[in-house]
Amino acid sequence: MADPAECTIKVMCRFRPLNSSEVTRGDKYIAKFQGEDSIVIGGKPYVFDRVFQSNTTQEQVYTACAQQIVKDVLGGYNGTIFAYGQTSSGKTHTMEGNLHDTDAMGIIPRIVQDIFNYIYSMDENLEFHIKVSYYEIYLDKIRDLLDGECGGCLNPEEVMDTIDEGKSNRHVAVTNMNEHSSRSHSIFLINVKQENTQTEQKLSGKLFLVDLAGSEKVSKTGAEGAVLDEAKNINKSLSSLGNVISALAEGSTYVPYRDSKMTRILQDSLGGNCRTTIVICCSPSSYNESETKSTLMFGQRAK
Ligand code: ADP
Ligand code: MG
Repeated sequence: MADPAECTIKVMCRFRPLNSSEVTRGDKYIAKFQGEDSIVIGGKPYVFDRVFQSNTTQEQVYTACAQQIVKDVLGGYNGTIFAYGQTSSGKTHTMEGNLHDTDAMGIIPRIVQDIFNYIYSMDENLEFHIKVSYYEIYLDKIRDLLDGECGGCLNPEEVMDTIDEGKSNRHVAVTNMNEHSSRSHSIFLINVKQENTQTEQKLSGKLFLVDLAGSEKVSKTGAEGAVLDEAKNINKSLSSLGNVISALAEGSTYVPYRDSKMTRILQDSLGGNCRTTIVICCSPSSYNESETKSTLMFGQRAK
């Protein structure tokens, strides 16, 4: 058993800017930032490891949220980075952003670049094997978006192409992709194996990058049938994730990993001496105040 005391969980919070429809509607910007780690909404402060204001760049978010985890994964640790928040709060922007634009790239493409830069900088005695997998969890069922793991990636472009392939597979048989992506979780896994050909020393680390389903409450009166099933499933999987993370944060001896598909998949990359970062994504609009508060509360539970 890994020692829970070693467990490192960081909770970051990112506010996107008001979007054009919020501005047009006349919504107010309700987030008040205090220092680098605290946010006040409706007079109540919420404290995190770090809070990112709306003008924070993708690079700044990457540096604070992922750079150290990447170093640790290259050192043989496992890790997980999650984006949590209501639909349209900036989860996909944070995790993926624009995969092919240097400034607008999110965490995943920057991680891929950093891993390859590290490999290119190492001497020839080190042999690296990079494998990626890409899954979606919908209604507690896993779908493999790549038809097995994709091994032997030779450069960052190949990994980006693989992500594009997975994303296009995700679109198959879905009529409304925006709705579907907000009702399902996507999990991208990078596995790095290295071997020193002289000393035969081996290291292996894996990193899960998770864009969670939208955390918004489905209106109790409006939802029925399939929509209600989806909503119940999302609530269940997000609350089981919250339970696992708060058990880890409290250092409890029992961690309920088996309560959902996602926590089972992530089991050996959550807790123990694994590195975990949760990026809580929020809208700053007065219109979304109650969802923003419940998102902030989820983040606080992990602290
Ligand atoms: P989610 O994945 O949580 O549903 P998205 O990441 O798709 O939300 O974001 C919704 C919209 O807001 C997108 O058009 C995205 O480009 C934009 N957006 C999100 N976060 C930011 C940000 N920090 N700065 C600028 N635009 C953002
Ligand atoms: Mg999204």
